[in-house]
Amino acid sequence: KTYPEVNFLNYKDRKKILVTGGAGFVGSHLVDKLMLQGHEITVMDNFFTGRKRNVEHWIGHENFELLNHDVVEPLYIEVDEIYHLASPASPPHYMFNPIKTIKTNTIGTINMLGLAKRVKAKILFASTSEVYGDPEKHPQDEGYWGHVNPIGPRACYDEAKRVAETMCYAYQKQENVDVRVARIFNTYGPRMHMNDGRVVSNFILQALQGIPMTVYGSGEQTRSFQYVTDLVDGLVALMASNYTKPTNIGNPDEHRIIEFATIIKNLLGGSSEIVNKPPVEDDPQKRKPDITTAKKHIHWQPKVPLMVGINKTIEYFRSELRRSKHSERN
Ligand code: NAD
Ligand code: UDP
Ligand code: UDP
Repeated sequence: KTYPEVNFLNYKDRKKILVTGGAGFVGSHLVDKLMLQGHEITVMDNFFTGRKRNVEHWIGHENFELLNHDVVEPLYIEVDEIYHLASPASPPHYMFNPIKTIKTNTIGTINMLGLAKRVKAKILFASTSEVYGDPEKHPQDEGYWGHVNPIGPRACYDEAKRVAETMCYAYQKQENVDVRVARIFNTYGPRMHMNDGRVVSNFILQALQGIPMTVYGSGEQTRSFQYVTDLVDGLVALMASNYTKPTNIGNPDEHRIIEFATIIKNLLGGSSEIVNKPPVEDDPQKRKPDITTAKKHIHWQPKVPLMVGINKTIEYFRSELRRSKHSERN
């Protein structure tokens, strides 16, 4: 087996890094970056929405370890840094078992904070723009407290992420744990799940297959999409910085969902019609990050234009579709 060539780091620069949820979409791209930099990576994942295939190119590498473990259970290992990403992220996935989503983000985060405290590791928590709920402020800056329905269908995710942020700052204040909180906005790219029900994957799959593209509600609601490598660069920059308050990581390039459907349809030149489906309950109507904090404190901003990122994502979905057709035949 041959591996991508990793940078050589001497002992004092090489870090032991735990990535929870590292077999998922974002986590696996983060693992690629950290491995190439020459660090020692432990991926911990229960494979609920992640899969081995996302990290299989590293399996067997001397700097890489894969643990099949649920973050709701305690974990005793020695590490220098923790990127805590374990949690389902797409609405259909996190609504599939709301209690498990709550446990993963609350008990799971307590466990990772307890680990960080014991081994004096730095810990970055993957929070979300969902902490702003259906925002009454636009664009959203980190000072905005949000507008979340605590008992709605999205609450298992939104409120669990909110209390997880609270836990991070309680451990910082009471136990001196070195915390980072990234509020991640909608992210897309290769290794997204084909069937995770998110808008980017749905629209690309529908357009590729020439079936109707489903716009929920009027399509006037907006989202701002960032490409996954931009996010990964932002997470690594935030971890490396001295800035410890919540930091939005997202691309302010905002689009109406209906317009986004048209962009993808035109790119693929397909025959899909765009159809309206009933609106989703508690669907945030507008979302766009204010990234002043990230620019100022971690010197980061997104670089990949939507067209470039979407084309790469389309390529990935094309090859995944070929792959699944091939395995159906065999
Ligand atoms: P994903 O579903 O692809 O990855 C999540 C990973 O966590 C999967 O590999 C899954 O198997 C693992 N996992 C879930 N529950 C676990 C548990 N109890 N124990 C161990 N592992 C568990 O999602 P993603 O898009 O890569 O998201 C990663 C993180 O980023 C999540 O915390 C998510 O909330 C956050 N986030 C993502 C987005 C986005 O647009 N992708 C936006 C905001 C926040
Ligand atoms: N924990 C863990 N790994 C460690 C240390 C702690 O998983 O290396 C978990 C353990 O389940 C613990 C939780 O983190 O309950 C919180 O740890 P903390 O030290 O804050 O609390 P306590 O041990 O007193 O419950
Ligand atoms: N959406 C849509 N059609 C789909 C999937 C999603 O119109 O097939 C809409 C959804 O209602 C929301 C936006 O696209 O307004 C983004 O949804 P997604 O589930 O991707 O992420 P969210 O930002 O809501 O977590």
